[in-house]
Amino acid sequence: MALSIPVVWTDAHRLHNPETAVWIGVPIPTDELPERAEAIRSALKDAGAPIVPTAAHPDEPMLAVHKPELVEFLRGAWDAWASSELPADPVQPDVVGYIFPTPGFLGGIEPRVPTALSARTGAYCYDTMTVVADGTWEAARAAVDAALTAADLVLGGKPAAYACCRPPGHHVTRGAFGGSCYLNNSAVAAQYLRDGGFARVAVLDLDAHHGNGAQAIFWERGDVLTGSLHVDPARGWFPHFLGFADERGSEAGEGLNLNVPLEPGSGDDVWLAGVEQLVAAARTHRSEALVVPLGVDAGAGDPNSPLQVTEEGFREAGRRLGTLGLPTVFVQEGGYVLDTIGPLVRATLEGFERGATS
Ligand SMILES: [Zn+2]
Repeated sequence: MALSIPVVWTDAHRLHNPETAVWIGVPIPTDELPERAEAIRSALKDAGAPIVPTAAHPDEPMLAVHKPELVEFLRGAWDAWASSELPADPVQPDVVGYIFPTPGFLGGIEPRVPTALSARTGAYCYDTMTVVADGTWEAARAAVDAALTAADLVLGGKPAAYACCRPPGHHVTRGAFGGSCYLNNSAVAAQYLRDGGFARVAVLDLDAHHGNGAQAIFWERGDVLTGSLHVDPARGWFPHFLGFADERGSEAGEGLNLNVPLEPGSGDDVWLAGVEQLVAAARTHRSEALVVPLGVDAGAGDPNSPLQVTEEGFREAGRRLGTLGLPTVFVQEGGYVLDTIGPLVRATLEGFERGATS
């Protein structure tokens, strides 16, 4: 049977294509490539899914989640960098940070925003690998629009919609970007569903890495449950500093942040038990709508994660999410193997449709 979940698409993702990322100070080839989204679209088109163009949205839904300073920095960063001396001396074509206002450095004092362009990035970006290149802003902003278009479809009565977007977003907090992400597409969609009338929303993140962005954004919120299933950060995986099981939320959000860290090498059985924990939490929360930051880098063979989930595992995860019977927005996050990224997303969405109709 043909896949009926609409696939929201924008060509603007191609504008984000930096030549290099920087990792531990060394320029390396980037693997968050335009070919990723193209491969997914192709697999979903083959499955019969309708392709829906992204509609432009005003800034307000994005600013409901992100600080205006972060948005303004991203909007102007590359132009400012490109027109400075930095691309010629010391020859850094893209925006990259070098000094960061860590708590130990500040000693409790509120930091100023640096006047030097070379330092200002550290006020908004928390790592040195997530460069802002020519076209990054346009692509990241269009990815937000794709997530919002998918949310519009669900608010309009579609049982589910999928935003086929990049760059990804789930590592971005209210005021800081990193982890190859710039704007938190899935968190924007979750807040938009709240504002659109769903009283309680669940964000259940299947990417192989901790969804630290939604955790931070909704930490004190009772109306948005955040759950994340990921490789144990204590075993040497991004985002290293966060993503542990004892991070449970506070204030009205006490107990409504659920982290399920997994041992490297975990396969379908262990991973699906984690999916079941997230699904059970959404039931307890009585969530009325669901956002799934859908990274497929937990798939076996992905160089960015040691998890070993199969295509059948993703299909079963989709089925279990579908049994919640909730209006659902899927938003693309990680997944870096061009041969398998499409089939894994397809399997998840097909599983979801099976679960939702059984
Ligand atoms: Zn990831």
